Amino acid sequence: MSIDVATAGAASAAGARATDHEVVVIGAGVAGLYQIKRLMDLGVDAVVLEGDGDLGGTWYKNRYPGSRFDSESYTYGYSWSRELLDEWHWVERFSPQPETLRYLNFVADKFSLRERIRFNCFVDAMTFDEEGAFWRLRLRDGSEVTTRFVLTAVGVLSVPTYPRIEGMDSFQGPAFHTFDWPAEPLELAGKRVAVIGTGATAIQAIPEIAKQAAQLVVFQRRPNWAAPLNNSPISDEEMADIRRRYDEIFDRCSRTAAGFEHDADRRGFYNVSREERMELWDRLYDGPGFGIWLQNFLEIFLDEQANAEFSEYIADRIRRRVNDPVLAEKLIPKDHGFGIQRVPLETNYFEAYNRDNVTLVDLNETPIECITPTGIRTSDGEREFDIIVYATGFDAFTGAFDRMDITGVGGRKLRDKWADGPQTYLGLLVSGFPNLIMLAGPQIAATNFPRAIEPAVDWATELLQFMWQHGHRRFDAQESAEREWLVDVARSYELVLSGRAQSWITGYNSNLAGHEYGKTRYNVYQGGAPRYLARIKQAADEGYAGVAFS
Ligand code: NAP
Repeated sequence: MSIDVATAGAASAAGARATDHEVVVIGAGVAGLYQIKRLMDLGVDAVVLEGDGDLGGTWYKNRYPGSRFDSESYTYGYSWSRELLDEWHWVERFSPQPETLRYLNFVADKFSLRERIRFNCFVDAMTFDEEGAFWRLRLRDGSEVTTRFVLTAVGVLSVPTYPRIEGMDSFQGPAFHTFDWPAEPLELAGKRVAVIGTGATAIQAIPEIAKQAAQLVVFQRRPNWAAPLNNSPISDEEMADIRRRYDEIFDRCSRTAAGFEHDADRRGFYNVSREERMELWDRLYDGPGFGIWLQNFLEIFLDEQANAEFSEYIADRIRRRVNDPVLAEKLIPKDHGFGIQRVPLETNYFEAYNRDNVTLVDLNETPIECITPTGIRTSDGEREFDIIVYATGFDAFTGAFDRMDITGVGGRKLRDKWADGPQTYLGLLVSGFPNLIMLAGPQIAATNFPRAIEPAVDWATELLQFMWQHGHRRFDAQESAEREWLVDVARSYELVLSGRAQSWITGYNSNLAGHEYGKTRYNVYQGGAPRYLARIKQAADEGYAGVAFS
């Protein structure tokens, strides 16, 4: 679909109040950068408001040691520019954070995106003006921006959550969340470091911190199943081959449930012998990335018995890697099976515990009582630290929306509407909040994120083109369509074991009121990327079924 772009903006402004911009994109991460590129190509008056001082979103903020892709780099990068695909050489199969940030800057420079990004412009509040059918945004510096349409690219894991522990403010040394790891070099050599939490982030950071610090103490509440990343460099020859295969790679990603090249083994767990299962698992454990999870038998995701057998296989692999058998048992989850929560991928995580300078504190045996000016006191005594690192997770999916004061039709607040969990239409629109599109919002498909973000940006751009072509000034998702989508999303949770995960998938966060385990919040669509992509395409093909225009 193409439009006379000269009329974009003028068309929707006809007879209406002129706004500062036709489109505001909030956030200059992976989604925001692609979105502004599409709007620039259309010649639309659009700007990105970025709360931070530079671009990159997730990859700007997560600069903790060990931070890197768990996705194969060449499946995570943008697919929309052949020139870009031909020019960029991914140095490692799983790109480390500094390289990814360089990539995003390379993209921004190549396509002159910076000229449309305003930095340090955190959006505190936004209110829909019903009479004029536009949004009024209030920035942190008190200034105001008006726009016909708002597209949010605010990240799914962009609001860190800290534990609530007595005395946290009293600690005299550096103490920060992994998301806020200092930009200036932080000397770890000779330091006594505490890490609280053992999620995917901690599991990447711990081996790197262990290599540098004098002492590292890990405070673990629940262990996580983790498996080797098996990273490797990408040679010139391999990169040339990847470039030749890019179409095939992205096509395959669009057809697999999780948006990766990895796809499930469909022979049937019970149709093959135990030896054949072991042969597959040995191969996958030594193979790269999420293969161990996503190339496994489908039953691992669906059937408790199959999951239990495979979990025991992984437990054995962990036992073989940790010298102290008592410690090994502490690192093996007993309350959930492998892959029920998002699997952390690791490089020498378990071996880190074989080092003399690394200690594990099991918080089930010795809970934290308080943080003191010089350390952490647990029920068995106090340990002194120079640095405390909180690897304690995020207010996932809805947090980045809740911290903006978003007011829709009839004065309704989005955070009130979502008090018990998100409700969206296709993870893209929210009924009662017109002219707002979420590019990486809750209830988008749970995938290798760029593989869902790019279609979301394309969908959003085409919806705007549809608006301009038809002279519409306002769209709003219908409540009935939203209710139906929620039923689909909830059903997707019933079908898989991860529907009961004690993790951000179900909205669990022990540090947030209302996010207790068991109060399921349907944060993602778990029905697979192909089904999701077909569903959003169908809505568009049907003239945006479920959306009202005026
Ligand atoms: P997380 O998975 O939510 O883990 C948080 C950890 O902190 C858990 O071990 C949790 O223990 C612990 N914790 C929280 N509050 C605590 C408290 N009050 N006392 C003690 N322990 C506490 O967060 P994350 O590790 O940052 O990972 C979040 C997501 O980010 C991942 O699932 C993944 O999707 C994404 N991520 C991606 C990459 C990548 O792609 N390369 C890398 C890292 C992270 P409990 O389990 O007991 O609550």
